[in-house]
Amino acid sequence: MKSHRSGLRASRLARPTDQVDRGAPLADRHSVTFWCAADHDTVLTLAVEADVPSTWDCDRCGGPASTDRGTAVPLGPTRWFPRTPYEFLMMRRSPEDGERILAEALAAMRKARPRN
Ligand SMILES: [Zn+2]
Repeated sequence: MKSHRSGLRASRLARPTDQVDRGAPLADRHSVTFWCAADHDTVLTLAVEADVPSTWDCDRCGGPASTDRGTAVPLGPTRWFPRTPYEFLMMRRSPEDGERILAEALAAMRKARPRN
């Protein structure tokens, strides 16, 4: 029936355009960093009002990554990245502190690592 179709179209046109407003400024965004078990960092940029996913695939190795550094579950069945008291300490600090401390710890580890 012709009258039915034209009625549909008319109501469609009359709907307020609340879906995409091109004139509006972009939503506020923030960066969220995810770390996988191998300590690769993957940075996501999300709208502030968007939900932060609890896990994300690592950009580099594809493993599950978590926003809580050091808590991601490794891909393999064996946990090759054992959590040390030092890591627990690190988790209580800010990400910036963690970055710096990790860099220092890695440097110390490389220096102390025996050659075999
Ligand atoms: Zn990774």
